[in-house]
Amino acid sequence: MTTETDLLIVGAGPVGLAVAAEAAARGIAHLVVGKPMGFWTDHMPGGMLLRSGTDWHLDPGGEATIERYRDERGLTEDQINPLSLPFYLGYAEWFRARKGIAPVDAWVERLDAAAWSGGGFVATLVDGDTIAARRVVLALGMGPFAHVPPELAALVPPGRGAHTHDRVDFAPLRGERVLILGGRQSAFEWAALIREAGADHVHLSHRHASPAFAEADWSWVTPIVDRMVDDPGWYRRLPPVERQAVGRRLWAEGRLKVEPWLEDRIRRDGITVWPDTRLVACDTLPDGALAATIGTGTTLTVDRVIFATGYAVDLGRIGLLAKGNLTAGVATQDGYPVLDVRFRTTVPGLFLTSMAAGGSFGPFFGFTVSARASARVIGRALAAPSEAVGGRDRLWSG
Ligand SMILES: Cc1cc2nc3c(=O)[nH]c(=O)nc-3n(C[C@H](O)[C@H](O)[C@H](O)COP(=O)(O)OP(=O)(O)OC[C@H]3O[C@@H](n4cnc5c(N)ncnc54)[C@H](O)[C@@H]3O)c2cc1C
Repeated sequence: MTTETDLLIVGAGPVGLAVAAEAAARGIAHLVVGKPMGFWTDHMPGGMLLRSGTDWHLDPGGEATIERYRDERGLTEDQINPLSLPFYLGYAEWFRARKGIAPVDAWVERLDAAAWSGGGFVATLVDGDTIAARRVVLALGMGPFAHVPPELAALVPPGRGAHTHDRVDFAPLRGERVLILGGRQSAFEWAALIREAGADHVHLSHRHASPAFAEADWSWVTPIVDRMVDDPGWYRRLPPVERQAVGRRLWAEGRLKVEPWLEDRIRRDGITVWPDTRLVACDTLPDGALAATIGTGTTLTVDRVIFATGYAVDLGRIGLLAKGNLTAGVATQDGYPVLDVRFRTTVPGLFLTSMAAGGSFGPFFGFTVSARASARVIGRALAAPSEAVGGRDRLWSG
């Protein structure tokens, strides 16, 4: 079966939902494909707390905010902070209903340029159904980019290690000894949750000093990201030294701090933090346990290893592009797509946002704060007369 639409949005996470809301507000016929909030339901642990607060809502129109959702439930800021994953999922569900967004819960297997002369795209779903669209927005998030450094992966015996992306059900770890490699928020939060789920012992090893338990200050991020709506080229115009300064500031907030509400949950029995260490060997013992050596003279006996080693953008890992005929047309730089100031790739009519847009728009694209601004810039581009034929005019600078 083939469905036709003007605009296909692939990905029903925060960014895809924001783009859909913006498209609807502009009267652009569209179809969203993807499991609603699938990354959050399937790749984050149910007991997780968010680092971001109520101000990072999803509505480009500023109406369906997290604060409104909170108020409608008669809740106060103190009752909801820090936001829990279930609360945020409830908000996203409410947002979808309020905006009338009904994603097709399916996986896009491949995306191709249409064979017919009018241009456009054909998306093929896992079941073989196809969607013909004149324009496509890819809002695929960070899931495709889960990263384990190959040298670490090579040390851990097959089947005994998993990335945090793939290990969110902690019940099977009850009674086990777990080694987590990584030293940022996810590593610490997974450690707390795994121990609370009944693991016998959790070790946390990282190559650097441990981050501080301190509240991150994101207040400066929202205004500069919102500024992109009126001036989407500001980040790329920054001199390299200023760009690095922005990156360092975000790094200092996000990576040199872990949330203070984790402190008591980490400084407890059954969790040991090993700063300035690195895994150098991991061998299977006769009884099946693992002997994990994390530096001179320190070998831990564990049952399982978890890689809290983050995400690294590499467009080559996006399956729907790799399987289709568009790869050669999508220019990349250092693994990121080359995007103009309207989020357009080098393939006319193909837009790309979410984490992979970070190369052109800044590291904020690893966070939901980017959802509204990118939706508004993309919405404006989609509504522009030049985009009516797939978009040929280019605005690469600012
Ligand atoms: C542990 C963890 C905690 C985080 N905490 C926060 C936080 O507190 N605050 C914050 O702002 N950010 C947080 N983030 C970052 C946050 O996850 C991202 O900023 C956010 O998800 C980006 O939204 P998105 O819509 O771009 O991506 P996603 O939420 O990942 O949505 C993209 C969706 O596209 C789907 N998709 C991909 N390929 C296809 C395909 N071929 N066909 C169909 N669907 C497809 C994916 O399955 C996914 O569901 C956290 C990330 C992690 C890993």
